[in-house]
Amino acid sequence: MLSVEEAQDRVLSVFERLPDEPVELLDALGRALAEEVVSGLDIPPHDNSAMDGYAVRAADTRGASEASPRRLRIVSDVAAGYVSARDVEPGTAIRIMTGAPVPRGGEAVIQVELTERVGDEVLVRAEVEPGANIRRAGEDVRASQRVLSAGTQLRPAEVGVLASLGLREVRCVRRPRVGILATGDELVEPGEPLAPGKIYNANAYSTAAQTLEAGGEPVMLGIARDTREHLKRRLDEALARKLDLLVSSGGVSVGDFDLVKDMLSAEGQMDFWQVNMKPGKPLAFGSISGVPLLGLPGNPVSSMVSFELFARPAIRSMLGLPLASRREVEAEMCDHYRKTDSRRHYVRVRVEGDADSGYRAYLTGEQGSGILTSLTRGNGLAIVPEDWPDVRPGRRVRVRLLE
Ligand code: AMP
Ligand code: MG
Repeated sequence: MLSVEEAQDRVLSVFERLPDEPVELLDALGRALAEEVVSGLDIPPHDNSAMDGYAVRAADTRGASEASPRRLRIVSDVAAGYVSARDVEPGTAIRIMTGAPVPRGGEAVIQVELTERVGDEVLVRAEVEPGANIRRAGEDVRASQRVLSAGTQLRPAEVGVLASLGLREVRCVRRPRVGILATGDELVEPGEPLAPGKIYNANAYSTAAQTLEAGGEPVMLGIARDTREHLKRRLDEALARKLDLLVSSGGVSVGDFDLVKDMLSAEGQMDFWQVNMKPGKPLAFGSISGVPLLGLPGNPVSSMVSFELFARPAIRSMLGLPLASRREVEAEMCDHYRKTDSRRHYVRVRVEGDADSGYRAYLTGEQGSGILTSLTRGNGLAIVPEDWPDVRPGRRVRVRLLE
């Protein structure tokens, strides 16, 4: 029996970062930046006004107040997107809009609310210090400054920053193509009628969704029937699709109808492991024609938990992203969780509370490995160590948050 960590190490040992490719800005959301991004310009590119108002000499406002305003001659105006042809000379002001470049000689901007326009003159009713209401060139980003580092996962803010640098595309790590194959005579695709004895293929879709969430590109390979010929056909089709990882589900348990195991062994180098965890003890890992293959157990909860522990880190490793991506918190268990074996349990819980008041974990109900709704009702997996007998209310457990 392997520990979870031993199995993870063995899986991760075969993956490395994939090559990168140019990606258009709007396709870059969520993707892993492959290069360091250095700014080619100052942002903002020029000193500009933070307010609608008047660009002035600071000295011209000295002593100005409600009671004794200073009177300046308005010589021009400048809107965002234009450059003033006039300078601010002593005794004059230039009307300026937010974002407009500050004209030469403009030491400060006085906001319009503190002024009153009288014909071609403006009454200034307050003092302004030099630099007031001026956003300096480069105050956000300096030319040649390193703005984003390689390995950053791009969020909307990073996409915005890249656009502010004038970039239309960036280099991102290629998304791993993950083939997803379900196995079993009992499976029917969602949308099809359900004949007696059949169930819908849940795993292919949960696996595809987990793949997307992890940053991979799912390649749906359909259902392989429990016959040698059909499984072989599906594997051959899979290998024609340039995969970085093939994830199958079902057919790897001990004492199971061993067709899937036989077939995978015959077609490539496969190991069939028992991992000291629950749900999801059986796990197959190896490669077929050079493509790494991870064989997840068939039970829907086992499949999802095993994906979380083994496939997700593999995908992140191919993306060059940090592997420990999930937040973990210490929570007080509020229900009694019964455990009779010495496996590590991943218990579906709903976590409430916060860092200040403390986190509390509640079981999401029946914990069978076929109860997929135990995952929909929760937001985390409580990690109950191998050597704990059972978990009484009040005991503190580590919980991996899945959101
Ligand atoms: P197996 O490991 O193939 O014996 O499957 C274990 C259990 O998981 C059986 O009850 C299967 O019917 C079920 N199962 C296998 N594959 C899927 C799937 N793709 N979707 C839903 N349940 C599945
Ligand atoms: Mg099966």
